[in-house]
Amino acid sequence: MVTEQVESVPERSTRVDRDLFRHRVLAWYRLSGRKDLPWQRQTTPYRVWVSEIMLQQTQVKSVIPYFQRFMEQFPTLQQLADASLDQVLHHWSGLGYYARARNLHRAAGEIQSRYGGKFPQDYERVVALPGIGRSTAGAILSLSLGKPHAILDGNVKRVLTRCFALVGWTGQAAVQRQLWQLAERLTPIEQVRAYNQAMMDLGATICTRSAPSCSHCPLAAACQAREEGNPTAYPTPRRRAPLPVKALQMLLLLDENNAVLLERRPPSGIWGGLWCPPECVLTIAPEQWCKSYLGSEGQVIEQWPVRRHTFSHFHLDLTPVVIRLKNTTGCVMDGDCRVWYNTAKPDARGLAAPVARLIGELKEHLTGETG
Ligand code: SF4
Repeated sequence: MVTEQVESVPERSTRVDRDLFRHRVLAWYRLSGRKDLPWQRQTTPYRVWVSEIMLQQTQVKSVIPYFQRFMEQFPTLQQLADASLDQVLHHWSGLGYYARARNLHRAAGEIQSRYGGKFPQDYERVVALPGIGRSTAGAILSLSLGKPHAILDGNVKRVLTRCFALVGWTGQAAVQRQLWQLAERLTPIEQVRAYNQAMMDLGATICTRSAPSCSHCPLAAACQAREEGNPTAYPTPRRRAPLPVKALQMLLLLDENNAVLLERRPPSGIWGGLWCPPECVLTIAPEQWCKSYLGSEGQVIEQWPVRRHTFSHFHLDLTPVVIRLKNTTGCVMDGDCRVWYNTAKPDARGLAAPVARLIGELKEHLTGETG
């Protein structure tokens, strides 16, 4: 919770007149801030929560259509809690970072069972929900209810590190601490909605990652990075080793009707809970895999070029292999974890965007074969 007395703030921030800082931010917001985003209409905690989760790793432009479709499908928290995880993942398909959708669904269930379906309004309860950290909790409570909590998303971090020339990777605990102290010192008790939205908008539209538009920035006169002449040196980039590479075959297994075999992935890890063709290490021949795992004869029709997917901790090089199964009667199917997916009449299930693309290519390939 923001108070007007915050102890132990970074020394350089005390040189800034915080009333002037707020005044500039708020005046800029009145003229240039975003006020008509879909989640800025009917600002209930539920709608703001969904939007904040979607915005965690995704840009506003990409989030808008997903948010609108999601709200049409799950207009209330109750409907989200009552939906199956598959339905939720289906509406998240293509947005990426699927742990967000799993946590959203889990948190909706918790709110339903613990708080009778009413979104909690107390910070400690909000921050204890799955998938909600300190900044997201602050954003939900300030933007929907006007409660005085600071936020510190990627956009706000960029503005603050530049304004105060804060050195050090923002993931380091000491830098985080400094940033929170700054954020709390500067966030006003009054007009917190407008101020927090303004800080996010400033980072997203003016103080951008690679081309900050300092000449249009309301904070330019007080900005230390600008004074140093090198704003893009902040935030300090993380020093990291090159990502390791994991290589796998992705088996596009077709039955006699050209349905493709999909398996549900384990609930955690990449594409967790989503449906995917089976994967197989490079050292096992696909035909051998078919025999061992499905008890079926498989014939490789084609191998497609490798495609790389980069995650935060590794590159995944996938080689798609199209295989025709000769006899599928022995394949054990279980609607909960293994299904035949009809590419001509696809049902609603969660697919990661690269898998959906791959299945689209497969469909085209099969249409070409039969057409
Ligand atoms: S003056 Fe430039 S670097 Fe400083 S906060 Fe504004 S846009 Fe960012």
